[in-house]
Amino acid sequence: MTDGFTSFGLDGTILAGVRDAGYDRPTPIQVQTVPAAMQGRDVLGLAQTGTGKTAAFVLPILQRLSRAAPTGRRRVRALVVAPTRELAEQINDEFARLGRHTGLRSATVYGGVGFQPQVTALRGGADVIVACPGRLLDHVERGNADLGHVEALVLDEADHMFDMGFLPSVRRIVALVPTGSQRLLFSATMPAEVRHLADGLLSDPLRVEIARAAPADTIDHYLVPVDEERKSELLMHLLDRPEARSVLVFTRTKHRAKRLAANLKKAGFAAAELQGNLSQTRRQAALDGFRDRTYDVLVATDIAARGIDVAAVSHVINYDFPDTAEAYTHRIGRTGRAERTGEALTFVTTSDFGNVLDLERVLGRRVERRSVEGYVPAHAAQLAELRPGQHRGGGARGSGGRPARGGGPARPATQRGSGPRQRPAGGERAGGGPATVGVRGHAAHSRPDRPASQAGAALGARGASEGADPDAGSRRRRRRRSRGRRSPVAAD
Ligand code: AMP
Repeated sequence: MTDGFTSFGLDGTILAGVRDAGYDRPTPIQVQTVPAAMQGRDVLGLAQTGTGKTAAFVLPILQRLSRAAPTGRRRVRALVVAPTRELAEQINDEFARLGRHTGLRSATVYGGVGFQPQVTALRGGADVIVACPGRLLDHVERGNADLGHVEALVLDEADHMFDMGFLPSVRRIVALVPTGSQRLLFSATMPAEVRHLADGLLSDPLRVEIARAAPADTIDHYLVPVDEERKSELLMHLLDRPEARSVLVFTRTKHRAKRLAANLKKAGFAAAELQGNLSQTRRQAALDGFRDRTYDVLVATDIAARGIDVAAVSHVINYDFPDTAEAYTHRIGRTGRAERTGEALTFVTTSDFGNVLDLERVLGRRVERRSVEGYVPAHAAQLAELRPGQHRGGGARGSGGRPARGGGPARPATQRGSGPRQRPAGGERAGGGPATVGVRGHAAHSRPDRPASQAGAALGARGASEGADPDAGSRRRRRRRSRGRRSPVAAD
């Protein structure tokens, strides 16, 4: 381990956990946050997942709790509030990993699972509780949780707690924690409501802002023009490619995720949904099945997918355009992890043009356009020409809500490709074919460091201005049905 972690003055037991975790050097947010937090200072961290923000608060909390361990019964001395169960589990894992030599215990508290183990944890079984707000308040109301000994309070992903309508519950929880406790608030963005929360919560905080992570270099990402009513057909065409091994598809709403996953299953794809209305058991089944490849396709919403960490996602498909540049970076960051290459395709309808401009402004670069043969819409040429300052009014951001769909020019009948829809039962998915999912053609603007010849060979899309792809037919592959396994998500 380099001097980085040792210079923080962390106890040996904690450094041993850091070493076991394989962290060689602190990330920028850890460098900035850990020393001040170890001195007890409040922190306002503007950072998103992937920056190492979890360890940035876990390490000082472990240090605080292991330095001054009171004798007698274990009590809840640190409380982390997080918006989703997945994130809560991930934070709890980080406490367990980094704190494994400290003797401290952490536990999660969230809805959709039994009360009793949580009651045990709250009543002396754990030093640290990582909780989602609703279930924690249930416990408070039932007299199971005493937050009067909390020394450090963390609110993680505060902007998502706001998005999910949790801020009133969060305020109630804050009121139950001693006023003298240390407070740390992390948020990827700072809407006014979160700012107000932070103003009331934090006292002279250290403000740490980690620049928005650009998409990783290992990810090729493309904008794929398509008409709204042909999205589903195009998606199935792309999923039919042999390269579509492990594909994460994002939709805008829970309802759309549910409907799309159902349609994919009906069409014979091994697909599952991951959206906030599912029970914890079904979410876990979907995630486990995606990890172990029972499912090739996981259809998710942004919030449900926050914090999911599946190492080998081959492709991300933004079925609906993400609402913010942060969401875009976060979504496409689900692929290309751990130095693997990945590919992200974002469907673009005419009503997304404003969002495209906003995205490219924030990313500071143009994202390459790729059309898919047989699915080229009339607006492909417009999208190809789209430049900052040219087109406003199509975007949702800043104008309060998405524009009405279908405002674009009609698609000429000649561009109506014969979508390869047939997907007979039982066909084994053939191997071979290009290494990634089929985009070919122009040099990738998104990967200026790579020559055009390497940038191609992905999910079947091609440069908008190119002609027909002679190999398209032979590259279409039939997919086997659900690999003989019954989908637990499909079952009910
Ligand atoms: P987070 O932003 O907290 O979600 O962390 C993203 C990932 O980075 C997690 O898988 C952490 O285990 C990992 N991580 C956190 N800190 C470090 C570090 N100093 N070195 C290497 N990996 C880290």
